[in-house]
Amino acid sequence: MTAAKTVAFHTLGCKLNFSETSTIARMMEKEGFEKRQFEEAADVYVINTCSVTDNADKECRQLVRRIQRRSPESLVVITGCYAQLKPQEIASIPGVDLVLGAAEKFNIAHHLRELSKGDSGKICSCDIEQVSGFNSSFSLNDRTRTFLKVQDGCDYNCSFCTIPMARGKSRSDTISKVTSHAHQLAAAGVKEIVLTGINLGDFGKGEFGDIKHGETFFGLIQALEEVEGIERYRISSIEPNLLSSDIIRFVAQSRRFMPHFHVPLQSGSDKILGMMRRRYRKDLYRERVEEIKSLMPHAAIGVDVIVGFPGETADDFRETMDFLHGLDVSYLHVFTYSERDNTRALELKPVVPVTVRHERNKMLRNLSYMKMQYFTKLHEGQTRKVLFESQNKNGMIEGYTDNYIKITTPYRREWINGIVEWKL
Ligand code: SF4
Repeated sequence: MTAAKTVAFHTLGCKLNFSETSTIARMMEKEGFEKRQFEEAADVYVINTCSVTDNADKECRQLVRRIQRRSPESLVVITGCYAQLKPQEIASIPGVDLVLGAAEKFNIAHHLRELSKGDSGKICSCDIEQVSGFNSSFSLNDRTRTFLKVQDGCDYNCSFCTIPMARGKSRSDTISKVTSHAHQLAAAGVKEIVLTGINLGDFGKGEFGDIKHGETFFGLIQALEEVEGIERYRISSIEPNLLSSDIIRFVAQSRRFMPHFHVPLQSGSDKILGMMRRRYRKDLYRERVEEIKSLMPHAAIGVDVIVGFPGETADDFRETMDFLHGLDVSYLHVFTYSERDNTRALELKPVVPVTVRHERNKMLRNLSYMKMQYFTKLHEGQTRKVLFESQNKNGMIEGYTDNYIKITTPYRREWINGIVEWKL
């Protein structure tokens, strides 16, 4: 390797990717690299890709072109989900020097030692079936809220999803390791941890995907509650069939777990849920929401929904709209279905025209806006605790209440990473 000493990162996609990039950066710093901002000149650029984003390929090409214009001599490494799924495609992008699959992404420094510019598009990847082992990750100093990865991979096989192919089988950290990370983060001054995973509720499968340590997600949150110094936890997302009454009741009386849930629904039509191979039907989803709201009327509930899935008729979509309309949830994350190679959904018919998919997306985004407005209004006049973040955004500072209402107010340095009683 040439004298590569500085490294810059760019992350696409989810919170898990952010926490992994953060960990890879720390590992490389230990190996003697100095971290740079992505916009600065660096000897090595690492792009951590996502397979869920539309145009992953286009985005990746654009980023590589930008790097080439700025520093044509630097090495470009592509890793992450998209790199695992489409290594050849990525390797053929001009300017890419190294493509690292899921098993190799925490090994970048080692691979760099054996690489020089011009080794065009070297691929280090293996079949996803062989990917095992769990790499703990958390983001530190990147955000006030820290994303702590406790689980990876997924054993479900939803018909639209490529994640199991990109990340492999479900496996998790142990409770003792997670709590030890939480202690470490508390000592570093972190106030809020977002527990992150691909299928969080499935926590408990061992490092190699076996059910060896017999621990559960419920056990994990009980142990984390005891960690002094961490004032807030959030559960990034949990499948409705795994969100048990035990978990809901625990959060309702917890001092540290925030009244905030993010629960993927994907469709309000049982027919479509079946075609998606989801493991619940809408009645169960409704029950989960009602249980949360009966114990925590102030809780925020976020919902993922996919529109335009093959076979989704106007009536099916209407059913989803009506279901969400009547559900006491606070905001929606709306995704437009798009075809993914090697998924079962590709065989389903009829395909929904792209323009219709976009119209449906817009309708649900409008509904989400109304839900969020309503939820915020409902809490007007109340005093809630806000954790302020560090960025100065044009003279403003931002923070979130316990129940995830965003507050923007003129910047005050002394509020950074502090919890402030706030009248809404
Ligand atoms: S639960 Fe379904 S959507 Fe989520 S990662 Fe697993 S297969 Fe994909």
